[in-house]
Amino acid sequence: MNFESLGLTEPILKAIRTEGYTTPTPIQLQSIPKVLQGKDLMACAQTGTGKTAAFAVPMLQLLSKNEPSQQGRRPIRALILTPTRELALQISESFSAYGRYLPLRNMVVFGGVGQRPQTDGLKRGVDILVATPGRLLDLMQQGHVHLQNIEIFVLDEADRMLDMGFVHDVKRVIAKLPARRQSLFFSATMAPEIIKLSSTILTNPEHVAVTPQATTAETIQQSVYFVNKSDKVRLLVKILKDTNIKTALIFTRTKHGANKLVKVLANAGIDGEAIHGNKSQQARVRALQMFKNQEIRVLVATDIAARGIDIDELAHVFNYELPNIPETYVHRIGRTGRAGASGTAISFCDSEEREYLRDIQKLTGIQLPVVKGHDFEPDGSEPVPVPQPKAPRQQQNNRSAQRPKSPATPSGNGQGNKRRRKTSSWSGHRDQPGR
Ligand code: AMP
Repeated sequence: MNFESLGLTEPILKAIRTEGYTTPTPIQLQSIPKVLQGKDLMACAQTGTGKTAAFAVPMLQLLSKNEPSQQGRRPIRALILTPTRELALQISESFSAYGRYLPLRNMVVFGGVGQRPQTDGLKRGVDILVATPGRLLDLMQQGHVHLQNIEIFVLDEADRMLDMGFVHDVKRVIAKLPARRQSLFFSATMAPEIIKLSSTILTNPEHVAVTPQATTAETIQQSVYFVNKSDKVRLLVKILKDTNIKTALIFTRTKHGANKLVKVLANAGIDGEAIHGNKSQQARVRALQMFKNQEIRVLVATDIAARGIDIDELAHVFNYELPNIPETYVHRIGRTGRAGASGTAISFCDSEEREYLRDIQKLTGIQLPVVKGHDFEPDGSEPVPVPQPKAPRQQQNNRSAQRPKSPATPSGNGQGNKRRRKTSSWSGHRDQPGR
């Protein structure tokens, strides 16, 4: 199945080709035709499955059927609500990329940055608005945003919205939407409260789902180094120096740990930035951009800051410290190996983290290959067995697990399956507040 057979128009197909996508992902295959038919959608899919294009591509096509008004201020015709600023920026970039040959304008608004560039952008008129809930409500209250002309509404990452305590804000926004509209609802999980929320938004929805990533992506080459806590920095520096790892996203458990690691890596001549909750929004966006542009080699992140961040061709993720919540491991390494591209996830495990490793293996059902014979190998670094009765599935389900070769050698760098190229040039305009 290819994009051509989904009934997409030439400007969109051309943009998809420009992105280098050849085959739709399963969520795209399922969603695009339904959205094009004007149906409401209840979609169970995580970041990393290609879900942004699954809604953005058909939305652009539907919206482009009616040319934007040339006179007066254009009304906002589509709204995408998403929980984090990083996701909002990425979604806006996706609309810009897939809509590059269309005359539609998109804009992103989120809190933590000055409001002025956002209100100026809104005054110029936008067709598609991507927003986080708090700032959107502020702008609505001040009369800068009106939602009465919304034709398509997307609630993205509904489960995270709830986790992050945005449910009341979301409901306040929904109350202002016109009753006659198309609604698309995306969530990685379908807990009862999510289903309840969806029922207040959707009318006769079509249901689509892709297998949740309870297991780790098959395209990610995973490995674990047993190492003493005090040797972790030296091991990391050695791996980063020895090999041709161009960029690496490195996870720590704490903000303090992230800052400290950036400093010691700088002393070893490795440029990096930290992103975490104590950094201003501008600093986070700047660090992410420098990393994406390969101006810095490493980005050290805590889990909250890294939620949903999407970096093109990210081939390496390091778990400098293992997470104490096993699902977090899956989320972390899911930053690489996106949409079928291959990636490498390297984990460090000290003696106090073996319990965490056990939990991760239990969740994923995979016994992580242990890298033996490295310079900092402590005594007794035997593999942590996968708890029974869940049998290890490494041979079939994780091809990487079969080949724990020189761990820092990427099994691929995403070239085989070209990923989204971010672009700032597009046919409409786009505001990037806070830059
Ligand atoms: P998402 O789940 O929307 O965050 O997308 C994950 C990544 O997959 C992004 O980097 C997209 O650019 C990329 N992507 C989306 N659709 C495709 C596709 N059909 N082929 C290749 N890459 C894709």
